[in-house]
Amino acid sequence: PHHANPAAAADVDELLGGLLAPGMDRRSCRSRHELFRYFKHFPYAPSPYLLSKLRAYESLHRRCAPGTPLYADAISRLRSGRSTAAGGSEESCRYIVWLPFDGLGNRMLSMASGFLYALLTGRVFLVAVPPDSAGLFCEPFPNTTWLLPVEDFPVANLFGLGPRPDHSLARLLAKNKISVAGDGDLPTASNATAMAVPAYVYLSLGWQKADLRPFFCGENQRALAKVSWLLLYSDLYFAPSLYKIAGIHGELRRMFPEREATAHLLLRYLLHPGNAVWGLVTRYYGAYLAPANRRVGVQIRMSAAGDDHVPADDKYNQILACSRQERILPETAAVDEATPSAVTAAGDPTTTNGGGNTTAILVASLFAEYYERLRSRYYEHATTANCGGGGAWVGVFQPTHEEVQDTGKLEHNRKALAEIYLLSFSDELVTSGLSTFGYVSAGLAGVRPTILLTAFGHKVPEPPCWRAVSMEPCNLTPPPPDVKCRAKVVDEEDLARHLKVCEDWTKGVKLY
Ligand code: GDP
Repeated sequence: PHHANPAAAADVDELLGGLLAPGMDRRSCRSRHELFRYFKHFPYAPSPYLLSKLRAYESLHRRCAPGTPLYADAISRLRSGRSTAAGGSEESCRYIVWLPFDGLGNRMLSMASGFLYALLTGRVFLVAVPPDSAGLFCEPFPNTTWLLPVEDFPVANLFGLGPRPDHSLARLLAKNKISVAGDGDLPTASNATAMAVPAYVYLSLGWQKADLRPFFCGENQRALAKVSWLLLYSDLYFAPSLYKIAGIHGELRRMFPEREATAHLLLRYLLHPGNAVWGLVTRYYGAYLAPANRRVGVQIRMSAAGDDHVPADDKYNQILACSRQERILPETAAVDEATPSAVTAAGDPTTTNGGGNTTAILVASLFAEYYERLRSRYYEHATTANCGGGGAWVGVFQPTHEEVQDTGKLEHNRKALAEIYLLSFSDELVTSGLSTFGYVSAGLAGVRPTILLTAFGHKVPEPPCWRAVSMEPCNLTPPPPDVKCRAKVVDEEDLARHLKVCEDWTKGVKLY
């Protein structure tokens, strides 16, 4: 097989230091066993405690997955509106079902967050995959499935419930349809029946904030623990806010002694592109990126709303100013001339490859504009001694420019996912502020990206960008403070040390 990254291959095994379980079929998911050859960075190994949690989770998932008697039992309870197992002490399974919401980056982050919540609370994580995402990701757990059989699921219209349906947590609380236990008031056989436990609860944890406030309150967590089915509708990376919940905080700290590795390890564990996407990724990488010895990913995103648009000249200058500030892209000479050092280094001008100094710049964007400008820049000008050295050959590549976001189409999503992975093989990354697409690439890459700041109010930002304090995604909409919540936030000092305002969004928080 092709060793895209021989240095990494030598000291990192294909199972990423035990993060991935052995024994899965290679042919049905090639990326799972090949990704390690392409990633450039392996900054964090998983903790032994995380590994033990994952192995225990995998066996729980096998016992409870669709197709098992325990699953059939849980479905029949949901269908009849009962909350507790018929047999009393028999084992029963509890689930969290992920629902799609928003673009691909948003979805990948809410998947990682939902899976983390499942790990922390002993639930089984299932995904309701719409046709626009069929086969996008591989099965992550050995010898079982994470796909919810959507057709047979008792809750109707699963993909069209929106942020505030009747069974949402906030509504149930308002109508006293879910009981909140007091401190230490754990459910017992005698009081469980007296407590209102709905058959399922819908959790709307997206930017609309419908259930964000009550969800992150400790006493509501105790109430939710008794509910067999949770439906998760979110477009956020909400893992940072889980650190605030008593009872969860300690577990998280043991699982991720290095907080910065939270999304990085979760994404690498859970998400592997299916074979169709992996074909796009490997063909592109092999043809355009593999020959270079340094790869830089540049992700340019402008909001669909258009409130951050500036003239293309200004945006391009922002990218160049950022690159200069952080010394990322090779600089070019003002005058056009030949690139002498490269030719003399190898002796033969027809076979030289820039004296072994080649940079591939991968541009990901819905538009071709910035790719074309960058490509012309390195065609028309020689590189100078900065950033990668004089005489560097620079190639600029962009796999697609789709022009519009088209999340409802499978072909479109495949290409978007391929680009997220191609970006994640970079040595360095320039990403766009507020973009979950960029957050996911950086998290997967294990790279602290340089984040281009958003042109709020159409003003070119100054400084043009910041180097991120961590590779963690920003939690763009953290829960608003809940004055009614009696449970205290745990260890505020510790939290303050590891939770920071995001570089690109002052209302967001991120782990570092
Ligand atoms: P965000 O909106 O930047 O937070 O990222 P999302 O991934 O959630 O939503 C943006 C969607 O627009 C992506 O999922 C793609 O469908 C599309 N898109 C945005 N930027 C790109 C890009 O660089 N390449 C491709 N192929 N699609 C993109």
